[in-house]
Amino acid sequence: MRALSYFFSFFAITLHTTLKKHITILGSTGSIGTQALDVVRANPDTFEIDCLIAHSNADLLIKQAIEFLPGTVVIGNETKYLQVRDALSALPIKVFAGEDAIVQMMEQESTQIVLTACMGYAGLRPTIAAIKAGKHIALANKETMVVAGELVTALALQHGVNIYPVDSEHSAIFQCLAGEWENKIEKIYLTASGGPFRGKDKDFLRTVTREQALKHPNWEMGAKITIDSASLMNKGLEVIEAKWLFNLRADQIDVIVHPQSIIHSIVQFNDGSMKAQMGLPDMKLPIQYALTYPKRLQTDFPRFDFLNYPALTFEAPDRKTFRNLDLAFDAMHRGGNMPCILNAANEIAVEAFLNRQIGFLEMSDLVQYCMETIVFAAKPTYNDYVKTDAETRELAKEKAAQMVR
Ligand code: NDP
Ligand code: MG
Repeated sequence: MRALSYFFSFFAITLHTTLKKHITILGSTGSIGTQALDVVRANPDTFEIDCLIAHSNADLLIKQAIEFLPGTVVIGNETKYLQVRDALSALPIKVFAGEDAIVQMMEQESTQIVLTACMGYAGLRPTIAAIKAGKHIALANKETMVVAGELVTALALQHGVNIYPVDSEHSAIFQCLAGEWENKIEKIYLTASGGPFRGKDKDFLRTVTREQALKHPNWEMGAKITIDSASLMNKGLEVIEAKWLFNLRADQIDVIVHPQSIIHSIVQFNDGSMKAQMGLPDMKLPIQYALTYPKRLQTDFPRFDFLNYPALTFEAPDRKTFRNLDLAFDAMHRGGNMPCILNAANEIAVEAFLNRQIGFLEMSDLVQYCMETIVFAAKPTYNDYVKTDAETRELAKEKAAQMVR
């Protein structure tokens, strides 16, 4: 708990309560990025956008830049640079392109908090750069914590940086912990909706299509996390994310399926008391809380009505059918570079499934194969993570090509 109380200290935030909070958004054109801009739009006196960063959606980035007038925009895909530069040439906005420019933007002096809302391993390098530059992190990009949680949390401690969770479950835990920093957590329960295939068996899953898997019952999200939610890998990644964010042992983290997605997660303290955070599923709430902690801002989001939910239900996850959850627990237990292998293999598996190269159940086969084949490193450095990620992707692509249906 000591690490926690330090992580989430009020100090740096209260310094700026009367000023606008300066934000950089890494991944402004995605599901989280656009919802973060909805929050900013609704609170113009609270936030100021310093920098917007996207990868390839130049049209939306241009539109966002014209509306929010950040000092800088960066487009990751360099082939889109001229389009963005020309469209914004009449405005006082600097335009850059490429991966190195993204990393450099993390050091921008005026920025206080970086919202990491890009997808996948690509978030690791800029997040580390932001932490080293002393920026607080609103962390949506869970893959960064999965790949290198030990390194990232150690750097955050070293640089006095707070990491505020955006993921709804982790935001729920964080909200339950407010005012409890000195109390011991016995365990946490991460809730899971169960996704679109809850209750289905392997025979059914063998034949599901990308269209079926992309239909999530409760949340509108980017394609990769929607597939991860359907395969329960998302919950596996969140278990590892929780371990590092809240400094927990593996045996303190449990997963419970709660199909209504009203209770966003639960903390059980050492006296047996349980605190849950609940509300209608809307990512704008955890995004906003991560950006305004410890304050809550007034919103007009729809309110929960008990009479619309006469029953909140809970069940155990089906770990035999959805093997990804156990693969993730296994990776967490083994530590070292194993979660990095799990993540890289999964990113390739999801891409291959979305490209109709492999079937739904083969995603777990691919991840398991990589975990069994790539060389284990118990104490990885940053360079080891980079190497592990590259090697795993190569192996996973080769294997996926052999699996082609
Ligand atoms: P999306 O796919 O909707 O958006 C991804 C964003 O990242 C886009 O702005 C995209 O740019 C940008 N991007 C992609 N690749 C790169 C790169 N190499 N460098 C910089 N930017 C890049 O994803 P989501 O918003 O759904 O998810 C983002 C992160 O948040 C993920 O880690 C996810 O797990 C996490 N998360 C998402 C939730 C949700 O409800 N969506 C809930 C909890 C966590 P462009 O579009 O221009 O190509
Ligand atoms: Mg989540």
